[in-house]
Amino acid sequence: MGLQNSIAVIGSGYVGTVVAACMATLGHDVVGVEIDRTKLELLRNGNAPFFEPGLEHRLRDAVDSGRLLFTDDFDLALERSEVVFLCVDTPPGENGHPNTSSVAAAARALGKAMYKPHLLVTKSTVPDGSGHWLATTVETELPDGVDPSVISVVSNPEFLREGSAINDFLYPDRIVLGGDDPEAVQLVQEAYQPILDQSFPGGHSAHRPVLVRTDRSTAETIKYAANAFLATKISFVNEIAEICEWVGADIDEVAYALGLDKRISPEFLSAGVGWGGSCFAKDLEALAATARSHGQTPLILEAATKVNQHQRHRLVRKLQQHLRPLRGSRIALLGLAFKPNTDDIRDAPAITIASSLIEKGAIVRGYDPMVKAIPELPTLQMASDPYSALERADALILVTEWDELTSLDFHEVAFRMRGRVVLDGRNCFNPGAVARAGLIYEGVGKGWPEIPLN
Ligand code: NAD
Repeated sequence: MGLQNSIAVIGSGYVGTVVAACMATLGHDVVGVEIDRTKLELLRNGNAPFFEPGLEHRLRDAVDSGRLLFTDDFDLALERSEVVFLCVDTPPGENGHPNTSSVAAAARALGKAMYKPHLLVTKSTVPDGSGHWLATTVETELPDGVDPSVISVVSNPEFLREGSAINDFLYPDRIVLGGDDPEAVQLVQEAYQPILDQSFPGGHSAHRPVLVRTDRSTAETIKYAANAFLATKISFVNEIAEICEWVGADIDEVAYALGLDKRISPEFLSAGVGWGGSCFAKDLEALAATARSHGQTPLILEAATKVNQHQRHRLVRKLQQHLRPLRGSRIALLGLAFKPNTDDIRDAPAITIASSLIEKGAIVRGYDPMVKAIPELPTLQMASDPYSALERADALILVTEWDELTSLDFHEVAFRMRGRVVLDGRNCFNPGAVARAGLIYEGVGKGWPEIPLN
């Protein structure tokens, strides 16, 4: 098989576009399939339909060089490929289970267009057993006379993070391949060989990832377990942060000392308003739903989710303690994306916080370097820069730690605001600088804050 030249990537969202652009960078010929017409037009011209650092120039280079083309035509994609990476969305569904309707629709479209052997690689995060279901769905749609043995499914979960997706894809810690057919797994491994060897321009032998070859169920479970562990780690440190507030301790020092222990590591140990994004909540829910469907009670998974929801409400409670009443208060909400360096607002903590404040009668003015509107919150006012958001505000809440927001000039902040409260939801402001500007600083898990009595 001419594997190095024949990849299709189905779905051009946050994952698929990065996979397509990077695979083309590695020297493969790639066809990206996208059904959303607006996104497709942008992609065809080499433009990314969302913000991801470093993506746009890779995309444009790959499209201009002819190694990457985008289409909505499944026949064309299958004609030009042998390995098909499925990168469609799997949003939250019912009872915690993910909604796999996009995977099913893509599988049906692939089945209809399939006439020669194809290797399907699931990059979408799908629950245990999906490989088998996917093969059956494709098989059901195969044109008359096509031998069902043309289909082979390998699970290859994706671990990239939005905001550093290109680096995460090209320099991963590990590549997980799960499948029962060693030949099929070997073919996917070959597609990744330049990354495994770090032999592409810009590769580093020190970054050679570990290859984990396993069965499909294990690969699918690795993805869910990885996200569940990371989310739980953040919820753990946030619970300790709340204890710190009661006993007068400083969570940043506690977390620093914890992270020095190699068994714990400092990553994902920052207290704050908690995690958001399209993956953690739905993947935790999905894993918990799998456990429940087998009669198991997923105690830790449920607790991690509850602690995370509690973090968002805790911030609103803190503001209520400072500003009585919230009705009529002006709040500047800085940072709306679920994390810095992305424009993704799926399950962003800022949305829960803003809607709760608005419901309580506050006037909320938001600012984010990349997010210019939140359609589900039409009453959220949007500012064109952080200082405009702060004009005559009673309080500032930092939700997303963009560089532009962590380097605010607090004398200017104090000059613009009519109130004094600064709630640092990511513990990234310098409390001394805030206090020197005459403002009241409160972080997460930072001992006893100065709360005015009236
Ligand atoms: P996304 O919503 O950004 O992108 C999915 C894309 O697939 C959309 O552009 C959509 O129009 C397209 N699509 C849907 N049905 C299609 C079809 N039948 N044919 C062609 N295109 C179709 O989603 P995402 O964030 O890229 O996530 C994709 C998958 O990867 C999910 O399962 C997610 O859990 C997983 N994942 C996401 C991340 C992340 O950081 N976003 C990281 C790792 C894994």
